[in-house]
Amino acid sequence: EAITVQELANRMAEKGADLVKELFNLGMMVTVNQTIDQDTAELLVDQFGHNVERVSEADVDINTTEDQDPEETLKPRAPVVAVMGHVDHGKTSLLDALRKTNVTKGEAGGITQHIGAYQITAKDKSKITVLDTPGHAAFTEMRQRGANVTDIVILVVAADDGIMPQTIEAINHAKAANTPIIVAINKIDKPEANAQKIRERLLEHEVIVEAMSGDVQDVEVSATKGTGLDKLVDAINLQAELLELKARPDRAAEATVIEAQLDKGRGPVATVLVTRGTLKRGDTFVVGTESGRVRALIDDNGKQVKEAGPSTPVEVLGLGGVPDAGDQMTVVENEQRAREVAEFRQAKATESRTALAPTNFDTMFNNMQSNVIEFPVLVKADVKGSVEAITTALHNLSNDDIKVRVLHAGVGAITESDVQLAGASKAPIIGFNVRPNPKARELVKRDGVRMMYHDVIYHLTDEITKEMLGELGPLK
Ligand code: GDP
Repeated sequence: EAITVQELANRMAEKGADLVKELFNLGMMVTVNQTIDQDTAELLVDQFGHNVERVSEADVDINTTEDQDPEETLKPRAPVVAVMGHVDHGKTSLLDALRKTNVTKGEAGGITQHIGAYQITAKDKSKITVLDTPGHAAFTEMRQRGANVTDIVILVVAADDGIMPQTIEAINHAKAANTPIIVAINKIDKPEANAQKIRERLLEHEVIVEAMSGDVQDVEVSATKGTGLDKLVDAINLQAELLELKARPDRAAEATVIEAQLDKGRGPVATVLVTRGTLKRGDTFVVGTESGRVRALIDDNGKQVKEAGPSTPVEVLGLGGVPDAGDQMTVVENEQRAREVAEFRQAKATESRTALAPTNFDTMFNNMQSNVIEFPVLVKADVKGSVEAITTALHNLSNDDIKVRVLHAGVGAITESDVQLAGASKAPIIGFNVRPNPKARELVKRDGVRMMYHDVIYHLTDEITKEMLGELGPLK
C-alpha cells in the first residue's frame, strides 16, 4: 500500500517539507506529491516517532498550500504585482498613478480606500492586482512566513538618479524569490532623465533589459505626469501571460493576509488576497491561529461584496482576533472544526518555536530538478575589497553538485533587511569584520538566522566548505 508524502505528513501532523527532508537524508529524492511504500512510511513514522501520538484529526483534511488542484479545474487569474525601489524614486506616486488608470473606477463610483491592495482593470478588461504597500519589508516579511503572493516585481528606478542601495536590495529580494522583474524607469519627464544610463547600470546587477538583449522588460514612465502607464500595464499583462497564472475558483477558499488591524468600530479587520477558491460571506475559516466567520467582505472601493475569487484583495470582517501579515486563511466546513484547527495550529506554533533553526533545504529542493544544489549566502564586510575577495572565493567553492549562490553582498553592518532576506531564503549571513546593528540582532534571534563571523577569508571558506559537504553528504 502506498501513501503520498503529504498524506503521511498530515497524518503525522508534520510538515510535508520536513518529511521530504528526512527522506532526502535517507537518500531518497521525492516530492510531497509522490508516493512512498509502506516500509519507507514506517521508517519515517519511526524517525518522527515522538510525534506520532500527537496526531490530531483536526489537520488531516486541512488543505495545505502544498497539495494541488487538478489541472482541468484551473482558470486564469490576475497577476499580483508589488512595487519596489529606492526611496524617493516614485513608488508611492506610481501606485497612485496606476490606481487612476483603472477604467472601471468611474463606473463603480466608489471612494478609493486603502486596504493594502487594489485591483485595476485594463482596457482589454484584464485585471491586475497591485499590492499597495511600497517597499521591501512587506515583500520579505511575507516570504519569510512562507507566503509568496507576489507574481511580478515592478522595480522603480528614477531616471534622474540611478541605481541606489535600495534598488540593489529590491533586485536581490526579487531574485531570491525567483520573482520576475519589470523595470519602470520613472521621472522620464525630467530634463536630466537618462534612461539609457539606467539600462546600462542595471547590467552590473544582472538585470538585463530587452534593449540590452536580455529578457527583462523596461518601460519609461512618469508617475506624476501619467506617461507610459499604458505600456507598463501591457508589460505586466505580457509577463503574466508568460507565467500562465492559474487557480481553481470553485472550491473552499484559501487566502493570505496582506495586512490586519484592530478597528475601533468594526473589530479585527484583515485584508486578504484570495489564492484559490472563492471566499464568501458566511464562510467559516481559520486564519493563523484564529478562527472566525465572514460577516462582511469589502472591496478596494469600499463596497460590500458577496464573494471574492482568486487574486482578489478583500477586507474581511468577522475575525476572532487580529492575524499577522502572511498568515494563511483557510475556509473550513463549520465552527467546531475551525476551533479545532485553530487550537491545533496554536499547539504547533508553540512546538515549532522550540524546533530547530531553519535549514536551507527548501532552496536545495527547488534546485533538485537540475540536480545542482544551491547553497545561498549573504555577505557583509567592512570594505569593498573584502566583499569582492569573499564573493570570488565563495564562487570558487562551487562544483557540479553544489553551487554557492550569493544572494546579496555589500559593505557595512548587517541590517534588518539583510536578516529578512537571509531568513526568507534560509541562508546564513557571513559577517566579515562586521556585526549586526541592534535591530538586526533582535531579528536574528527571533528568526533563528545563522550567522558566521570571520576575519580571515580561508577560515570562512573552510566553514562554508564543511557546510556544503554536510549538504551533499547523504547523497554520496
Ligand atoms: P517613494 O519614496 O519611492 O514612494 O517616492 P514618491 O512617490 O514619494 O516620490 C518622491 C518624489 O518624487 C515626490 O516629490 C514625487 O512628486 C516625485 N516624483 C515621483 N514620480 C515622479 C515623476 O515621474 N516625475 C517627477 N518629475 N517627479 C516625480
